[in-house]
Amino acid sequence: MPFSRVSRFGVVNTYLLEEEDGLTVIDTMLPGSTKAILSGADAHGIPIARILLTHAHGDHIGSLDALHEAVPDAEVIISARDARLLRKDMSLDPGEPIDKLSGSYPGAKTEPTRTIEPGERVGSLEAIAAPGHTPGHLAFLDTRDGTLFCADAYSTLGGVATSAKANWRFPLPALATWHKPTALESARTLRALDPKRLAPGHGKVVENPAAAMDAAIAKAS
Ligand SMILES: [Zn+2]
Repeated sequence: MPFSRVSRFGVVNTYLLEEEDGLTVIDTMLPGSTKAILSGADAHGIPIARILLTHAHGDHIGSLDALHEAVPDAEVIISARDARLLRKDMSLDPGEPIDKLSGSYPGAKTEPTRTIEPGERVGSLEAIAAPGHTPGHLAFLDTRDGTLFCADAYSTLGGVATSAKANWRFPLPALATWHKPTALESARTLRALDPKRLAPGHGKVVENPAAAMDAAIAKAS
């Protein structure tokens, strides 16, 4: 089992990914999710080596502080850009489109042990720039098996959709998106990677997602 999904209410996900040095926890869901994450990790039988965050929204970092307290030796990793949002610095960079930072940014007490840039590796994962939903939003491609942890660039709840256009069945990711044209561009970038499966922040894992991703992009274009 290379990875498992822990979900709350079937709506928001954490992924637990096996690496040689332990588990990588991708995102921490809402506050109060620590128990569920730890018991999911127990099922893998290896310790948590790191907590990897795709972006700084409250439904992805909600249990960061509590989880970090439980596994204080684990690394904490986020993009350098969203690390600012994690400490509630809401300033935009010169050149970034001036748009409202939507969604909740509750911040966290936990400081990242390191920040990363697109193109860097975290174990088997390659960090892929996928801005738009947030300025520093990252996706992660598992180079072993082609799984794309796309965070909120796509959701699969109520059907595969980009965060560039609201899906009426589950509009949350689009409503919380900072800059939709950038999000659409990122959705195209991720599609071009031709992932074998799509593991989103919200909704179930989708196998062979190419056609569904194409349709989602077409809907938002
Ligand atoms: Zn989000």
